Amino acid sequence: MTFDDLSLIPLIRRNVSAAGYVNPTPIQRETIPLALRGRDVLGCAQTGTGKTAAFALPILQLLSEHPARETRPIRCLILTPTRELAQQIGDSFVLYGKGLPVRGTVIFGGVNQKPQEEALHRGADVVVACPGRLWDLMNQGFVRLDSVEIFVLDEADRMLDMGFIHDVRRIAEKLPKRRQTLMFSATMPAEVEKLAMDLLSDPASVKVDPVSSPVEAIEQKLFYVDKANKKHLLASLLSRPEVENCLVFSRTKHGADRIVRDLKREGIDAAAIHGDKTQNARQTALNRFKSGECRVLVATDIAARGLDIEGLSHVINYDQPMEPEAYVHRIGRTGRAGRGGTAWSFCCVDELKQLGQVEKLIGRRLPVEEHAWPMEITTPSEPVPRLPREARVTKVNSRGEAVQARVAAKPALRAKETPAARLKEKAPAQLPSGKGERIVIGRDGKLQRPEPPRSATLRKPVQRVNRGNRKRG
Ligand code: AMP
Repeated sequence: MTFDDLSLIPLIRRNVSAAGYVNPTPIQRETIPLALRGRDVLGCAQTGTGKTAAFALPILQLLSEHPARETRPIRCLILTPTRELAQQIGDSFVLYGKGLPVRGTVIFGGVNQKPQEEALHRGADVVVACPGRLWDLMNQGFVRLDSVEIFVLDEADRMLDMGFIHDVRRIAEKLPKRRQTLMFSATMPAEVEKLAMDLLSDPASVKVDPVSSPVEAIEQKLFYVDKANKKHLLASLLSRPEVENCLVFSRTKHGADRIVRDLKREGIDAAAIHGDKTQNARQTALNRFKSGECRVLVATDIAARGLDIEGLSHVINYDQPMEPEAYVHRIGRTGRAGRGGTAWSFCCVDELKQLGQVEKLIGRRLPVEEHAWPMEITTPSEPVPRLPREARVTKVNSRGEAVQARVAAKPALRAKETPAARLKEKAPAQLPSGKGERIVIGRDGKLQRPEPPRSATLRKPVQRVNRGNRKRG
């Protein structure tokens, strides 16, 4: 099948061909005809499958069939979770819609809202937006959604993960009931299914490339390594000549910054991209990476979600992902459009559980590669308690407008406020004082009868077999 078989108008076909596409991808083959017929679509597809064009092409065609009114109200709203994804979708509309009378704009937070207000004021047929900023602008009266004909909800599962589902529902309530809705999600957890039932009307389901089958073209390797040695292993892998460019995944934002610092110390230029960076810093890092000026981009899962980087040769999972599905998303960044790619994963003793979940999801063991820093620590480290995070709330300001604000979460218990410390203050005499005696505080904060100390010989450290040294089937 070619794009000529999809009932697309010649101008769109020409733009698609100029973008270098010859055959539609499976999601495009299925979605484009349905969307052109005005059907609601529920698409189960991950990034890298060509889903942006799957919705952008029919939308451009449907909008250009009926010319815009002079006031140019918003006729198509696309909600997407990250700024990068919003920008990429906006760019795709420009690419595929060259020469068509359709105007678009992109709305996301972390930047001055004035240019976005002005673009909305001038009028846009297509608005690609992140839910937080869009909701702010709606509350300030800059956005009207009563002329929306087509609504696209992209990456619905990620919206859920990032806590945007409430904003999405509030925005969707303001849309006309009579509209066409296209919804895409890589996975379908129960809450996303419920959202789909609420937003879609008699949808056609399109499912491609299930999340549990990672792209076969990707060569995957596993490196068992102690946490402290990950940075050395990373530097040595990045100096291999076959690594043209590499996306390194960190579990946390601080971790991403630390990896960049460690690499710079080893003389390797790298840039980080995560939610704490300003939009400008993120875009600069992305541009440097895309232009080849910097070979290594370090990202968190959320920041990297949907990043479309052409010709990525390697992905390195510096940390195992918290959810196994993220592994598939991560390695999907390489080996795009049938090209081979390589995904290397690090695993320390504390990540064996996550690794097990990944291997269960993909249905096979990752082949292990031996290296100069084999895992030696086989006892899991003590979990470190984490501080609660800030919360995002909507407040009403002095002018009666709803604004988004960040509220510091309740401070963690200070040492003096712990149940043990309070008990000590109350009745110091009750407490056992001998060395080596165990103090047991119940959930009610009361002292419990101490257990007799266990023999030291019984307290063996947890031994984990270094799976890297075991024969694997
Ligand atoms: P997406 O899943 O929309 O993020 O698209 C992933 C990548 O596939 C992008 O780089 C697109 O330019 C590319 N792409 C989309 N459709 C096609 C196609 N039919 N043929 C080749 N590449 C495509």
